[in-house]
Amino acid sequence: MKLEHYIGGRHVPSQSGATFTALDPTTNEPYLEVAAGGAADVAAAVAAAQKAFTDGPWSTMPAEQRAGTLRAVAAAIESRDDEIAALECRDTGLPITQARGQARRAAHNFRFFADVITTMGEDVYRVGTAQLNYVVRKPVGVAGLITPWNTPFMLETWKLAPALAAGCPVVLKPAEWSPASASLLPEIMEEAGLPTGVFNLVHGIGEDAGAALVAHPDVPVISFTGESGTGQTIMRNAASSLKTLSMELGGKSPLLVFEDADLERALDAAVFGVFSLNGERCTASSRVLVQDTVYEEFVARLAERAARVRVGAPGDPATELGALIHPEHYERVMEYVAIGSGEGARLVAGGSRPEHLTSGNFLAATVFADVTPHMRIFQEEIFGPVVCVTPFSTETEAVELANATRYGLAAYLWTNDLRRTHRLAQSIEAGMLWVNSQNVRDLRTPFGGVKASGVGREGGRHSIDVYTESHIVHLATEDLPIPRFGAA
Ligand code: NAD
Repeated sequence: MKLEHYIGGRHVPSQSGATFTALDPTTNEPYLEVAAGGAADVAAAVAAAQKAFTDGPWSTMPAEQRAGTLRAVAAAIESRDDEIAALECRDTGLPITQARGQARRAAHNFRFFADVITTMGEDVYRVGTAQLNYVVRKPVGVAGLITPWNTPFMLETWKLAPALAAGCPVVLKPAEWSPASASLLPEIMEEAGLPTGVFNLVHGIGEDAGAALVAHPDVPVISFTGESGTGQTIMRNAASSLKTLSMELGGKSPLLVFEDADLERALDAAVFGVFSLNGERCTASSRVLVQDTVYEEFVARLAERAARVRVGAPGDPATELGALIHPEHYERVMEYVAIGSGEGARLVAGGSRPEHLTSGNFLAATVFADVTPHMRIFQEEIFGPVVCVTPFSTETEAVELANATRYGLAAYLWTNDLRRTHRLAQSIEAGMLWVNSQNVRDLRTPFGGVKASGVGREGGRHSIDVYTESHIVHLATEDLPIPRFGAA
C-alpha cells in the first residue's frame, strides 16, 4: 500500500519523491509506504487552501449549507466504520473494539459541529438607543492542523470538524507513525461534496512537513495536539508569523481515591482509565493516589485486576490491551519500567512482555505501588499501560500530590463527600475534573489543560473561537456627540 498527499483535489507524491515507511505494531515490519512531505508540498497545499478561501464558496456560504456537507461527511464516515476501525487497529495496535468506538466518535464530531454552527448566534451590545455594537465572526483563513498518533482518526476529525464548520479551508498533517486512516479522508470529503481545495492533506515527518506548516506566513492558525516539548518548539517557530495557537498537550493525570468512595467503581475507573486505548491516551489516569486507610487493599485489588487485563492481538475482539504503536515508543515505555524498579517503586503487576506474545510491542498491564513524587515515573508522561500508585493521609496531602507535576490536563476524584468535592474542584490544578466518573465527554464543554498540558480550549463554541476572528461593528443609531476640533 502506498499513500500520497491530497492537494487541491488531487492525490500527489512528494515533489522531492521522498517517502517513509509505517510499521505494523504487531510485527514491526514495514507495511505502508508514505509520501514524505516537505516545504514545497506544504506550500502547494497552503496555496490550494488559500485559493479556496478567496474564491469561495465554502467560507461565505450560509451556515446551514455548510452544516449539510458536514452531516454528509458524518454519514460517509459511518458507512466506512469497519474499514476505519480495521485500518486504525492495524496501523496503531489499538484493540479493534476500541477502534470501532473511536470511528463512531469521529462521525459524531462532524454532526456535533454541524449543530453548533447552525444554532450559535453572534453577540450584540446595545448602548441604550444610541448605539448598536454587533460582532461578526469570520473564518480566520487557512487552518494548519497537526495531530498525534494516538486515536489518530478521531483526533483529526476533532480538529477538522470545527475548522471546516467555521468556514476555514484546512491543511492536515497527520502523525508519521499513524498515517493510514487519514488516507480515507479525501474520498470521504469528495463523497460529501466538500468543494475542491477546502481539505488538503500532507503526510510527513514533524520536523519537515509540520515545521513548514507552522512557518508558513499564509497560515494564521495552528491547532496542535501532541507532546508538550513539541508544543514549545511550535510556539517558538510560530512567533515570527504571529499565529493563533491552540495547544492540546501531554498529561500525567491523577485519580484520587478517598476512603469514603465507592471503591469498587473507583477500581473499575482506575483500571479502565490507564489501560484502555493501550494507555496511549492524553487524559489517562496514570497516577492513582489512594488514602492510606484503604491503600493496601486498593493496591492488591488493582494488581489483581491488572494481571487479568487481556493483552493480545489488536484484531481480536476479546483483546483489552493491544500492541504499543512503534518499537521506539515501546523501548521508551520499557525504559520507564526499568527506571521505576531502579527508583525503588514496588512492581505489583506486569512489567514485561506477556509470555504468549513473542514479537511486537506488547507489554502486560503494569502497576507500580509506593511511588513517591521525586521519582521520574511519577513526574514524566509514560504514555503506555503503566500506572503509579501513591498513598496519602490527609486531603491537603492529596492535593499537594495531585498538583506535584508540571502537567494539568485531567483529574479524577472519587469521594462521596460533597464539601470535599467542592474544595478539591477549586484546588486541583487541571483543566478538567471528573467526579465519581471515568472520562465521559460532553463535546460542548471546554477541553484542554493548564500548566504544561496546553494553551487554550477546544470543544463546542471554544473550538469555533479558535477558527474565527471576531470583528466588532459599532453602529450609531442616534447622533452621538463628536467633538468639533478646528470648527471654532
Ligand atoms: P508529537 O508531539 O511527537 O507529535 C505530534 C505531531 O506533531 C505529529 O504530527 C508530528 O509529526 C508533529 N511534529 C513533531 N515535531 C514537529 C515540529 N517541530 N513542528 C511541527 N510539527 C511537529 O506527539 P505524539 O507522540 O504524536 O503524541 C503523543 C502526545 O500527544 C502525548 O504527549 C499526549 O499526551 C499528547 N496528546 C494530547 C492530547 C490533548 O488533547 N491534550 C490528546 C492526544 C495526545
